[in-house]
Amino acid sequence: MDIHSDCEVNFVENMSTTEDYVSERNNILKKEENLFLGSSLQLDERESKLDSHILDLKSNELKLSYQNSQDFLPKKNFFESKKDIDNSKIFKILKKLPKGHSLHSHLLASGSIDFIITNITYRENVYGKFINDQFKIKFLRKDEAKENGWVSLQEMRRNKTNFDDWLKQQLSLMVDCPRESYPSLESVWKKFKGTFSAVYDMFSYKPAFEDYYYQCLKELYEDNVMYVEFRATPMPFYDLKGGHYETEDFFKTMIEVEENFKKGHSDFIGARYIHSIYRGISLEDLRKELKDILEMKEKFPKLIVGLDFVGFEEEGHSLVDFHEDLMNVREKLDFFFHAGETNWFGHTDCNLVDAVLMKSKRIGHGFALSRHPQLMNLVFENNIAIEHCPISNQVLLLNDDPRNHPIIPLLSKGFPVVICNDDPAVWGATGLSYDWYVTFLAMTPKKCGLKVLKQFALNSIRFSALDDGEKKNAMDVWSRRWDNFLSEILKDI
Ligand SMILES: [Zn+2]
Repeated sequence: MDIHSDCEVNFVENMSTTEDYVSERNNILKKEENLFLGSSLQLDERESKLDSHILDLKSNELKLSYQNSQDFLPKKNFFESKKDIDNSKIFKILKKLPKGHSLHSHLLASGSIDFIITNITYRENVYGKFINDQFKIKFLRKDEAKENGWVSLQEMRRNKTNFDDWLKQQLSLMVDCPRESYPSLESVWKKFKGTFSAVYDMFSYKPAFEDYYYQCLKELYEDNVMYVEFRATPMPFYDLKGGHYETEDFFKTMIEVEENFKKGHSDFIGARYIHSIYRGISLEDLRKELKDILEMKEKFPKLIVGLDFVGFEEEGHSLVDFHEDLMNVREKLDFFFHAGETNWFGHTDCNLVDAVLMKSKRIGHGFALSRHPQLMNLVFENNIAIEHCPISNQVLLLNDDPRNHPIIPLLSKGFPVVICNDDPAVWGATGLSYDWYVTFLAMTPKKCGLKVLKQFALNSIRFSALDDGEKKNAMDVWSRRWDNFLSEILKDI
């Protein structure tokens, strides 16, 4: 029997009176409400009180936007809306809310640009130079710098008015008119890749990396995020004393900085590393890199949790090109693949098939997933979490209006989604709260309040790469913080 005609018959039979019609209408809406992510959670008395408060605030913010949709903050480009989001009452609650874990963050785009400029680039021995039209920053000895045509940033600052504003534009995507500056995905990705290139040498200077990495953890902690998994590659460390460093010094440094950070922040759970290979890599280089990272994994089994490919998904290789080599390492290294970060259909989005077939633990973005019903079933059945990064999708031109984001049908069916920040520094964000705000306001129903927020936090712990014992500990820490958060926030309501 055709399911559509069956439904139609039921409608006609059930709706002979106004009461029947209203009842059926409520029935449909209730069924949908019960399918939405987080709907099965039960809220206790205190949570229910906060839920009512949040729903009032949400209703008020939405009411203003219903009258003039241009004022709806998530719809505006993030560069234009950030200041107003900072003043939103909901955002202020989200900042305080224990959000659990950050599962999709690229290390070199995580620490804020303001910290980099005011702290790192004002140091001694910092030099700059254009190489192939790309501004780069590096620490050098004075003689080395002079010999190779590098100019100190101190001198640049003296000679150029508003140098730091100019520098900010070199290190980020932030511009006054993003639509004019970035007319296409290709143009925004070109600039985006350049921002990594600009800071790469600077953060290979070991003392700068140590301070930067500490700051990355601090910014997440201050946003009430207790654990992070960074996508990264080992930095080829140097210093100005001629020190020689091996790849493993990078991982040792990550651990040392984390330990140091925990001394002052005892409930911080920790950080993990997902090895991220440029997707333009040759098969020969891939084999070498897989061998190297497996060696490192043996030395740092807890820190190194998995593997991913990074870069503009339209460029470089598809996952299928590497499937034989990847299947060989699958038992030793978990996969956390970016896949389906595209608007194309039947093209780059097919990476999603390979991510699922190769048993990726989570999928980065999965932006194109909702157009693949078979894959949607497999993702749901296999409990593969989707790492949803709404501001990244907007700034990198996949999705202009978050109300049309393709994650919405997945949230509506209760798919396991985690909210992530991708490359927050590049668009002037810190922590996870901005992405939570955009998701909550633009991608959840008006009547959806604390339940979905709590579910996002729980999902972030559940789908992290921690082992079961560590997850239990993380849940205990989160529960304590959640309890404190409720006590504090309810005092002000
Ligand atoms: Zn990413």
